[in-house]
Amino acid sequence: MNKIAIAIHGGAGQNSEFIEANYDAYLEGLKAALEQGYALLQKGSSALDVVEATVRILEDNPLFNAGKGSALNSNGKVEMDAAIMDGKSHAAGAVSMVTQVKNPISLARKVMSNTKHVHIAGYGALELAKLNQLELMPEDYFIVERQINDLKEEKSYGHGTVGCVALDASGHLASATSTGGISNSLPGRVGDSCMIGAGCYANTQCASSCTGDGELIIINVIAHRVALLMELKGMPLQAACDNVIRNIDNPINGDVGMISVDVDGNIGFSFNCDRMHRAGIDHSGNMVVDIYEKGSMLRPDK
Ligand code: ASP
Repeated sequence: MNKIAIAIHGGAGQNSEFIEANYDAYLEGLKAALEQGYALLQKGSSALDVVEATVRILEDNPLFNAGKGSALNSNGKVEMDAAIMDGKSHAAGAVSMVTQVKNPISLARKVMSNTKHVHIAGYGALELAKLNQLELMPEDYFIVERQINDLKEEKSYGHGTVGCVALDASGHLASATSTGGISNSLPGRVGDSCMIGAGCYANTQCASSCTGDGELIIINVIAHRVALLMELKGMPLQAACDNVIRNIDNPINGDVGMISVDVDGNIGFSFNCDRMHRAGIDHSGNMVVDIYEKGSMLRPDK
């Protein structure tokens, strides 16, 4: 079989008591999603199908800040963003300010495949979801206690945006990113996750998905920058990811993380903060599942 590889993330940022208390559940959630995505690749599914299916699993897991478990804005409402990109065709679809849609990543895919547009926001996104008969849920389905507490404490962080990048057996790459955004944000705020080139990008050489402080990721156009460094400077994947994270213009001193996969099945992880929930299986079948700086499936000594 040709080389296949997959990497996922479940958000990057500061550590928290909640993450520590749910450490094992986070690792299990990451591992389960990773293994399901990898099994699809082994069966010959396309990278595009795999990143969508894997992100759906993470959206359904309330521990992550996407789909069920999304962050609440300052009005106490959930507004979700998502994007998907096919590295082979460079086709992309994105949605922002999405309500009620159980799996926003599938709506992003519909934008890509069923419309002539790249990005649909707000009420139009909801109408498109209805038109395509995507599953809708009442607003309280998305709301979990952790996010209510973060809002009460006026914490402005993301905690668990999700993403997946994959290389399929035909040598094609894809990327998908989905988020509930940042807690306590202004209503209508749109982050990087649904911005092609910033929080999500794929071409024929690499695919990347980002997480962290969206404003910083947007102004640094991070996912696309990795592709440029590989293409124009010939950098290997991990070096390109590290270079981008190290050299971000950091006027607001934020947290940023990214996952990438290249056409040879290498995977790259890079982040500038306490933790990035992440997992991957590279071209040789090596698996990593981790949250903090070091180790694999092992809690670091604190
Ligand atoms: N990047 C996401 C946003 O700004 C949040 C996160 O990744 O935690 O919407």
